[in-house]
Amino acid sequence: MQPGRAPAWERDEVILVCDLVYHNGWNRGFPDDPAVIELSELLQQLPLHPQEKRDPRFRNVNGVAHKTADLHTNTPWYQGKPKNGGAVDKEVIRDFLEYPEEMQAAAKAIRDSIRYGSFEKSEPVEGAAGDESEAPEGRLLARKYFARERDPRLRDKKIKSVLAAGRDLSCEACGFDFEAVYGERGRGYIECHHILPLHASGATTTQLKDLALLCSNCHRMIHRGKEWLTPGRLRELIQQQRAD
Ligand SMILES: [Zn+2]
Ligand SMILES: [Zn+2]
Repeated sequence: MQPGRAPAWERDEVILVCDLVYHNGWNRGFPDDPAVIELSELLQQLPLHPQEKRDPRFRNVNGVAHKTADLHTNTPWYQGKPKNGGAVDKEVIRDFLEYPEEMQAAAKAIRDSIRYGSFEKSEPVEGAAGDESEAPEGRLLARKYFARERDPRLRDKKIKSVLAAGRDLSCEACGFDFEAVYGERGRGYIECHHILPLHASGATTTQLKDLALLCSNCHRMIHRGKEWLTPGRLRELIQQQRAD
């Protein structure tokens, strides 16, 4: 690492800074603001950047205050020359303007999870259905969310409840049935998808009704890209495509 070069800001971090700017009437913060001091402490606790990439100034009050200024000067109505805000800054600002409730809830969920230590157990997720790097509400909440989705006990319970209700284990979006296609090898296989948004999925215990059953392809398609679809919306897409 080059001396004096801080690690790039992750979407999770920008969400937290933008939340501060948002609650400050879209104005910047200063290094002696209590909210900036508190946020600096919080950012230093997030398990996003390895210790060896951090220098003693990592996310200190000056750095955080600078970042609030970057965001302030990248709002669409700012008249002067914007400071060096990156693509992530602009995206997060746009999301706060478009979905203020969801973004504030995401910021709160990230803060709460740090406070209660619930990020520690969740490991980074890559490759499988739902790549956390694409997650709309940041990587940390996505990690927790995918850990929930893949909890084998929860999946077993869901499958048992569906079978007990006399229904098949078929994909709720496209109808794919693993046993029908793969025979014995596919029996009892299906993936579970959590239908609540990330910021709502970690706070309470998961209810079986919050889980949808999906085949692997549909599950992938739901989590593909920044905007995740509902199973119902994916079902509509499939039907439209079949009709064309
Ligand atoms: Zn499917
Ligand atoms: Zn899912």
